[in-house]
Amino acid sequence: MIKYKIFVLFLFTISLFSINFVSAEKQKEWELLGKIIYLDPGHGGSDPGAMYKNIKEKDINLILCQKLSEKLEKKGAIVYMTRYGDYDLSENYTINHKRSDLSKRVHMINESEADLYLSIHLNAENSSSWKGIQVYYDDVKKENKTIADLFYKNFKKELSNVRENKRINNLYLLRRIQKPGVLIEVGFLSNPNDRYLLRQEEYQEKITNLFAKVITNYFLP
Ligand SMILES: [Zn+2]
Repeated sequence: MIKYKIFVLFLFTISLFSINFVSAEKQKEWELLGKIIYLDPGHGGSDPGAMYKNIKEKDINLILCQKLSEKLEKKGAIVYMTRYGDYDLSENYTINHKRSDLSKRVHMINESEADLYLSIHLNAENSSSWKGIQVYYDDVKKENKTIADLFYKNFKKELSNVRENKRINNLYLLRRIQKPGVLIEVGFLSNPNDRYLLRQEEYQEKITNLFAKVITNYFLP
């Protein structure tokens, strides 16, 4: 009988260990469980954004957001995107197409329960010497600077061309969004090196892994 009791106790102990093991593993996998994240791939449809020959900003923005979305979902987050394909969000009958598109994006994010948003863009300049990744934020919410600083800190560790964060309080989109978040200009299509990298799947993976890491760090410091 004593042997039997010891055996039962043994089984019980084993099962406790395995339950702990599973839940610890799950916790690690689902670090973003319960978090809602809104991704905004800039431009779309009739608005290509920045361009270089046939390379369009809108397409790369969408690819980066799709990759990031998958990674965040794997960590347990609920992810929404302002667009899932190549279209813009303006109402057809409006005169100011661009304003209508941006206003719809603001509305979608504000109406959501998002804990964080990220607007993804690429830059372009007349001179090809401008290069690097840069975070734009509006201090309409105090968390925005914290998020921008966290991105900057991690970019500096892992990327070679990082521009200083830019506080910008007159962008239509950033000023009106009532959720915490930032806009990231991932690189310059007008710079040959940035343009090359932005189109490489390996670099797209690296960048979106880094974004997912920073977002996780923000929620779990
Ligand atoms: Zn853009």
